[in-house]
Amino acid sequence: MPPRQTPDQPWRSEGAPPPAPPKKKMPGGWTGLILTALVVFLLSDLLLSFFGGGGSTTISYTEFSKQLNSDNIAKIYSKGDSIEGNLRNKQPKPDGGKGDYTEFTTQRPAFATDPLWATLQSHNVEVTARPVVQQRSFLANLLISLAPMLLLIAVWVFLARRMAGGLGGGALGRKAPPKPVDTSQGRRTTFRDVAGIDEVEAELSEVVDFLKNPQAYRRLGAKMPRGVLLSGPPGTGKTLLARAVAGEADVPFFSASASEFIEMIVGVGASRVRDLFAEARKVAPAIIFIDEIDTIGRQRGGGGGMGGHDEREQTLNQILTEMDGFTGSEGVIVIAATNRAEILDPALLRPGRFDRRITVSPPDRAGREQILRIHTREVPLVEGTDLDVVARTTPGMTGADLANLVNEAALLAVKRQQDAVDQANLSEALEKVQLGAVRPLVMPQQERERTAYHESGHALLGMLQPGADPVRKVTIVPRGRALGVTLSTPDTDRYSYTEPYLRGRIIGALGGMAAEQVVYGVVTTGAESDLEQLTTIARSMAGRWGMSSLVGRVTAIPNDSQAPYGLSAAPTTLDAVDEEARRIVAECWEEAIVLLNRHRHRLDALATALLEAETLDEEAAYAAAGLSRE
Ligand code: ADP
Ligand code: MG
Ligand code: ZN
Repeated sequence: MPPRQTPDQPWRSEGAPPPAPPKKKMPGGWTGLILTALVVFLLSDLLLSFFGGGGSTTISYTEFSKQLNSDNIAKIYSKGDSIEGNLRNKQPKPDGGKGDYTEFTTQRPAFATDPLWATLQSHNVEVTARPVVQQRSFLANLLISLAPMLLLIAVWVFLARRMAGGLGGGALGRKAPPKPVDTSQGRRTTFRDVAGIDEVEAELSEVVDFLKNPQAYRRLGAKMPRGVLLSGPPGTGKTLLARAVAGEADVPFFSASASEFIEMIVGVGASRVRDLFAEARKVAPAIIFIDEIDTIGRQRGGGGGMGGHDEREQTLNQILTEMDGFTGSEGVIVIAATNRAEILDPALLRPGRFDRRITVSPPDRAGREQILRIHTREVPLVEGTDLDVVARTTPGMTGADLANLVNEAALLAVKRQQDAVDQANLSEALEKVQLGAVRPLVMPQQERERTAYHESGHALLGMLQPGADPVRKVTIVPRGRALGVTLSTPDTDRYSYTEPYLRGRIIGALGGMAAEQVVYGVVTTGAESDLEQLTTIARSMAGRWGMSSLVGRVTAIPNDSQAPYGLSAAPTTLDAVDEEARRIVAECWEEAIVLLNRHRHRLDALATALLEAETLDEEAAYAAAGLSRE
């Protein structure tokens, strides 16, 4: 993503034509202004001295009295102690100055009537006096009296620029006009860079077609959607798609994150939206992309708003107003992205606004392979590296996850000073991505043993559950925050879950704690994240998926975790959800304990193997437990 051009312009753009040169407010800007002032000052000083004091020569009082004594003074004018006057006859300038003079000024010393003067004179001392108060030139006076005002104006201009809002600073030429083409990037993003989401691409290609030749649509009076909403989990390529649409159609792309509209100063969000749409209209056909639109577009009155409520609403309203103002043929299409379409304000989804909604899902196996292929375009691979193997072992991973995986593998290859990335790099990178980075931590033997039993409990119950995801890896090497990890992933992509499968997941998650209970008779704090995970499943089963007869087939928990909890259902319903979740977990706990007691020998064998090898892969783990993968 190209950087933002100026801090007060919350959007970025690429592919827009170069900006018109900025209008010159004052020739040369600030430095010019200062230079001009200087020149004027010097000139006027020169003129003043030429016309004003220019004619008269300043002479010493001694010279003056000399001229006086030789009867050469015609007339004088006096003001205070300063004397101006004319000579009768020209005299050569004193102090070796060039030329003659008749006009003169001098200053009478305060002691002129003292005996001092006579004494000084008798000793031939040359006396020159200066007024106590130096008279400033007119210009200097003017500048000094204007200085505070100039300072005020400067401060004001500075503040106005800082605020930069269209509202406040508008009068003072605030904004750096459009932004330059982003030339840093040689090639623009196109559909070539997107894979694994062909259905979405197909839907968007209509938009591309419209942007490419809007006349054809205009001629038949066909109106294009004004807004397209891309929704889907993070990392599935929504931002990428929006850029690809612009790149494919070769039209300017303006992108801004909704939060950037409201991040800094209250009251400018709406005016920024206005500016953005104005820019886009100028260079239409164009695409405006608004990322994370849920930050300003969530349902009104839906809670979760901590201040800045009005700000959000105003910004959102401005977007809607701008979209309503489209005639449908000027060729500006707004694409918005969100991770959570379900919480958006319905006003956003009305016809004429974001009425075209496209769901972007994580890719399937074939899609993952294609995405891996795209991201390994610039990464040299060892001959015979099988990306399909990687695709198969990464269900649920998004495009962003896969891009990250390839990068991790490349980093590993660099670290080992290989020429190319091989299969081992890829699977090691996958391990790191899935399990977290290895944490160097020396554990006491007792702790290691307990961890081995804990992980064996997870793994064994995972293996024993019919229909559960196969166990891929068990390790007691500390990674990330965990002391050990058991990794299970499905064979094929799963799109929905059965109740027995979910119970199996809860039993597996309880397995660690249950094994500690069965073997040591006490539980430790190591099961915190297990509990969090299974609590979410159990509560969703009861409150969202209708799997409890007591709660009934209704939604009791809002899908939106930020929505105010208590308002979604009656208190008794929520109590029932908690009660049912607890019942489900209790039943699963019973079953976990029973299973572990019944298969205690397998648990011991698995734990022993783990203590020895520290990490077991799928095959070794099933073998150690004496089970075969069905
Ligand atoms: P989102 O906006 O949905 O959170 P992004 O578009 O920011 O996701 O994706 C992040 C990165 O992941 C992209 O820059 C790209 O490298 C990679 N990626 C995601 N989805 C895909 C895809 N379908 N094909 C290729 N790369 C993808
Ligand atoms: Mg994004
Ligand atoms: Zn655990």
